[in-house]
Amino acid sequence: MKDIFGMRLEELQQVLAEFRLPKFRAKQVAEWLYVRGAASFEDMTNLPKGARAELAASLIIGRPRLKTRLDSADGRTSKFLLEFADGTAVETVLMRQPYGNSICVSTQAGCNMGCAFCASTLHGMARNLTVGEIAGQAVYINDMLKKEDGGKVDTVVIMGSGEPLMNYDNVLGFIRLLHEDYVLGLGYRNFTLSTSGIVPQMYRLAEEGLPISLSLSLHAPNEELRSQIMPINRKYSMKEAVTAAANYAEVTKRRVTYEYILIDQLNDNEKEAEELAGLLKGQLASVNLIPINPVKERNLLRPSQARIEAFENYLKARHINVTVRKEMGTDIQAACGQLRNKHLQDK
Ligand code: SAH
Repeated sequence: MKDIFGMRLEELQQVLAEFRLPKFRAKQVAEWLYVRGAASFEDMTNLPKGARAELAASLIIGRPRLKTRLDSADGRTSKFLLEFADGTAVETVLMRQPYGNSICVSTQAGCNMGCAFCASTLHGMARNLTVGEIAGQAVYINDMLKKEDGGKVDTVVIMGSGEPLMNYDNVLGFIRLLHEDYVLGLGYRNFTLSTSGIVPQMYRLAEEGLPISLSLSLHAPNEELRSQIMPINRKYSMKEAVTAAANYAEVTKRRVTYEYILIDQLNDNEKEAEELAGLLKGQLASVNLIPINPVKERNLLRPSQARIEAFENYLKARHINVTVRKEMGTDIQAACGQLRNKHLQDK
């Protein structure tokens, strides 16, 4: 049975043509899939009854199913464990920000990048997610917001589990799909993609002509330390990744963000602050400092508030644009992969 969730209008038109349905029917089906929350073809009440039965006999609508939902005490962050038909589950996070509803989607089930601080990679990677599965996370939350308070998804960060540039075509397909007015109609500027630095694909992304924001997970200011924290650095060096990020900024005229997780005594010393300032001098860039959310399987600790501020102030004094990430949802294990791991263990 063919799954139509995640198909673009043109694809739906092709599929429906096999059932002798005219083009305008595809538009109706798309609306049912992406805006009106139909769970079955039977729900699509503006299609002829016979067509509904015929479609249901050979097509499916692959929406994710809610396994677990956790809400932070302040009610602003919600985390969802969503499950697909084959039992694969992924995490999606909703953050109700002053500027709108922001969601963080996963692009792979698990991850095989092996970063030392990250919970998503502890069990390796199960598989890439399809366009429909990535879009399913966004549409699920959008439908839910609509019901809860008439809200919608306003911005999307592609920063959940997985390495998006290792699932390039599906991630780009997802961004383009969500942008369509028959889906969420989101502007490309409302997307941020975060990568551990898959250099060839960073150059490719720069050529897509889409004004999406790019974040590079840097986490260390020299090759040796970065290789220790992020094994991908042995394949694509920090220098190459930063050059590719600078190229992205140059081509797209979009400011690149460097993510830097602060880990006590490991990468948060004055030495690293100085190296980081030197590395980014003169770039159209900003640094987002993220005090580590410690993962119990890893022995990496969060720095004291004094150390966090000292690092931040050092960069400020060197005229680097820097912010410390506002933490949301630490009480609900909202760090990458923590909820899914619990699910795998409980299974
Ligand atoms: N693979 C991509 C996207 C997923 S990781 C990438 O590497 O960018 C994205 C981000 O999640 C990291 O850069 C970091 O900002 C955050 N993150 C992951 N584990 C974390 C942890 N234990 N504490 C705080 N932030 C974490």
